[in-house]
Amino acid sequence: MKQEKTAGQTLRETLFWEPKHAAERISEEEVQRADAFCEDYKQFLDAAKTEREAVCTAVKLAEARGFVPYCVGQVYKAGDKVYLNNRGKSLLLAVFGEAPLQEGVNLLAAHIDSPRIDLKPRPVYEDNEICYFKTHYYGGIKKYQWTAIPLSLHGVVVKRDGTVVEVKLGEDAGDPLFVITDLLPHLAKDQMSKKMTEGVAGEALNILIGSRPFKDDAASEKVKLNVLHLLQEKYGIDEADFLSAELEFTPAFSARDVGFDRSMIGAYGHDDRVCAYTALRATLDAEKPARTMVTILADKEEVGSNGNTGMQSSFLAYFIDDIAEAAGTKGRHVLSKSCCLSADVNAAFDPSYPEVTEKRNTALLNYGVVITKYTGARGKSDTSDASAEYMAQIRRTLDDANVVWQTGELGKVDQGGGGTVAMYIANLNVDTVDLGVPVLSMHSPYEVVAKLDVYMAYRAFLAFIG
Ligand code: MN
Ligand code: MN
Repeated sequence: MKQEKTAGQTLRETLFWEPKHAAERISEEEVQRADAFCEDYKQFLDAAKTEREAVCTAVKLAEARGFVPYCVGQVYKAGDKVYLNNRGKSLLLAVFGEAPLQEGVNLLAAHIDSPRIDLKPRPVYEDNEICYFKTHYYGGIKKYQWTAIPLSLHGVVVKRDGTVVEVKLGEDAGDPLFVITDLLPHLAKDQMSKKMTEGVAGEALNILIGSRPFKDDAASEKVKLNVLHLLQEKYGIDEADFLSAELEFTPAFSARDVGFDRSMIGAYGHDDRVCAYTALRATLDAEKPARTMVTILADKEEVGSNGNTGMQSSFLAYFIDDIAEAAGTKGRHVLSKSCCLSADVNAAFDPSYPEVTEKRNTALLNYGVVITKYTGARGKSDTSDASAEYMAQIRRTLDDANVVWQTGELGKVDQGGGGTVAMYIANLNVDTVDLGVPVLSMHSPYEVVAKLDVYMAYRAFLAFIG
């Protein structure tokens, strides 16, 4: 016989807010849709390991869905789809809506750069008949995680005459790989007793690139000579060309399912391609939204969003100015009425390291997309902190669309912290909040996300676009 609920039980159900595992909140069919969606996501991860590759891949996907290059001055009508490629490293996509532009736009902003190992301008050297590249790491990494793992090389070399040579080596079966060596444990007594921040020095992140000499009795540095000779044959470049190159080493791993239940994905660079891809897919799937929607895939977030391809650039504001002018209004009036989801990841609670998070306010794997009201560190410094009004609007939007969501804070108070592009967009007088996917092992060479959370990010962006 079914027992009647007590008054206290009923009241508790009304008043308490208790998030649940997404799998317990959605249908089996939706779980299958999430798994299918993530197959496409894994392909994107493997095709787009760097910001340049992400822009190329996104443009291809957008063009296949009817997006065309944006023309300054052209007047667009509802349903028109355009993109603007900023120097091959950041991308704007827009779908024009039914409402007049002066009512504002809906913005999605994600970043497509990830922590990695960059080359120095003069990288090639030979030491004890072994040839190496000198590097400078990009973004916040734990340096010890990047030794003794397979690395692949991505990027461009621009020769003095402007010829662009594209490089992608280490991703295809049969390609050579690259590696940063580490000490054997037998001889690591001193290294192992150092602090972890000092165990592997920045200047020790040298990449192994060759060990056979050029056949010539008189020449010196014959291993370096042999490597440069091979590079000349394959790419037509010489040592000076590294000065005008952007070459980046990323982990050579491909995206794979994780776990017996295949519920998770392990890959390099979920931060932030997981939000870039889900935002992109929502943009491609937006047919005649009520308000115009603009998606920006930005570069340089991991190093502070500076430069002309970063979110602190005027790239977005100029674009809004241009579409506003063509529509007979002003960019600042459009921005002041606009809303933004800063689509970026947050840390997922890691049961092996519970001490760094406060369990009531941390995002959990599989509990859906995470809303982060504020980021920052040391007393909320450096955050735009979303308003109560805007939080209410986002809550309502997600609930109305049955999106599984949760809230999260990046770690315990005073444990550390971090930022996103949210504040740079909020500074343009746009209502902005962070929303994204919880990640395990963030900024490591192999990050982990849960498939249901990925799908919920896509659903959240679709709901936001309206
Ligand atoms: Mn990020
Ligand atoms: Mn990051």
